[in-house]
Amino acid sequence: MVKAFIDPEKCLKCIECEASKSCAINAIFSIDPDEPKIVEVKICRGCGDCIPRCKGKAIELVES
Ligand code: SF4
Ligand code: SF4
Repeated sequence: MVKAFIDPEKCLKCIECEASKSCAINAIFSIDPDEPKIVEVKICRGCGDCIPRCKGKAIELVES
């Protein structure tokens, strides 16, 4: 099954993470706002809705 992966090198650490807001199940989060966002792979459904919303083009779907 595919899951979203956020490349930490590409994540811009946006104050308003549009990718996170686009995720219906809130699978994208950060522990610290100064850190790149991460995906909770246990709940990610691999729908890809977050990908076009990411300002840094940091998200891709990977086989998990
Ligand atoms: S692929 Fe879908 S479920 Fe997974 S983080 Fe992106 S919007 Fe959320
Ligand atoms: S929109 Fe993309 S680049 Fe910006 S914080 Fe969210 S995941 Fe990172």
